[in-house]
Amino acid sequence: MNHDDLNHWSKRAADWARDYHASLRKRPVRARTSPGEIAARLPPTAPEQPEPMDAIFADFESIVPGATTHWQHPRFFAYFPANAAPASMLAEQLANAIAGQAMLWQTAPAANEIEAVMINWLRDAMGLPAAFTGTIHDSATTATLCAVLTMRERALAWRGNTQGLAALPRLRIYASAETHSSIDKAVRIAGIGQDNLVKVPTVASHAMDTRALNAIICADRSAGFLPAGVIACTGGTSIGAFDDIGPTLEVAKAHDLYSHVDAAWAGSAMICPEFRPLWEGAAGADSIVFNPHKWLGAQFDCAVQFLRDPAPQINTLGLRPEYLNTLGQDEITNYNEWTVPLGRRFRALKLWFTLRAYGLEGLRRRIRNHVRWAGEAHDEIARLPGFAITTPPALSLFTFRYDDSDRATEDLLKRINDDGRIYLTQTRHQGKFVIRMQVGQFDCTREDVMMVPAVLRELTGGAK
Ligand SMILES: *Cc1c(COP(=O)(O)O)cnc(C)c1O
Repeated sequence: MNHDDLNHWSKRAADWARDYHASLRKRPVRARTSPGEIAARLPPTAPEQPEPMDAIFADFESIVPGATTHWQHPRFFAYFPANAAPASMLAEQLANAIAGQAMLWQTAPAANEIEAVMINWLRDAMGLPAAFTGTIHDSATTATLCAVLTMRERALAWRGNTQGLAALPRLRIYASAETHSSIDKAVRIAGIGQDNLVKVPTVASHAMDTRALNAIICADRSAGFLPAGVIACTGGTSIGAFDDIGPTLEVAKAHDLYSHVDAAWAGSAMICPEFRPLWEGAAGADSIVFNPHKWLGAQFDCAVQFLRDPAPQINTLGLRPEYLNTLGQDEITNYNEWTVPLGRRFRALKLWFTLRAYGLEGLRRRIRNHVRWAGEAHDEIARLPGFAITTPPALSLFTFRYDDSDRATEDLLKRINDDGRIYLTQTRHQGKFVIRMQVGQFDCTREDVMMVPAVLRELTGGAK
């Protein structure tokens, strides 16, 4: 296959993509595949001789779409959608074609400078102060790991990186129990240890109890621990918990702790001024992450980390061996010094295309619709016999239960997903098995959303 063949097959792929997207509502959202089924259809070893693209493409069509959970399905209400607006898909194709590597300014000037401008566009769109800069990572998990590594090194006066942690004080990181497992993963990878991630109790609103936070930090100091940082959440994954960011950061500041806000899914909603009270005080954070691939339509993967001052993170992660020096240019930004990997994809392009093709107003309209429709679906489900709302809508996320029973709720969820018209997933809240409904798919309509109460009514035998 050469570049002329690529041109031919790219057009075939574009036709396929259009037909695929047009067919989604007719497909079950979740794959109906058993483990091992697909592997058994592939030869056990790689071919010795080249195969024709016709055969490869035909196998793709016969094997892959039917064994795929369709994340772009407009009735995907599970987890949080990973969106891919058409404009962002186009940008990804162009980034693919260039296939550059944006580790240094010099290796990708356009990618580097568009990245800086996109961070500024988003910062302003979300109402954050002009002091923030930032960078683009693959995932919120990576951004949170960078923040936790920075907490560690800042608290240890940058000795951890050189000496290792063995002889240094035991660090502590603080977060609420509503924060995502990516925070647990980050403290493990950072060598801080799960036991030193303190899950601070929450109050009735599911926000971190800031008085408890303060008391635990004081007690830890007296006990000889070294507090290093506080992680707050704006929109927890389980039920959409919102910490009171302002008061939480005040406690962090009073103890001179580095702070990070995980706003992975809910952060996108901050382009709508009316939702900003949900993270009141975020302007005081040291680091904030949100995923444009979740609710802004930028194709997975795309996680934005805002930094009030990039210096501590660069001091933690930046290495500049002679072979990575750009001779004669000291004022440029080399984003690999802000992130874990050296090599970096050109992710800013899809933000540029997406923000321009839909405009902030187009994106706000989608988010506002999703929030409104989630509210309407919630009201319908609350009225269905046997159903009880367990947590009310947090933006576009709420949870409910059936027949006040773990078993009945779990059994219903299985029937919902076997049915295939909609896709929902579960969480455990205050010890109980509950079903989550999260509206956020880029192309969903009110009709798609309202199919959820309709399917629930049908599957539980309720009359229309
Ligand atoms: C989705 C999510 C994450 C993880 O995001 P990745 O980009 O997949 O690492 C972390 N925190 C919250 C609140 C999330 O919703």
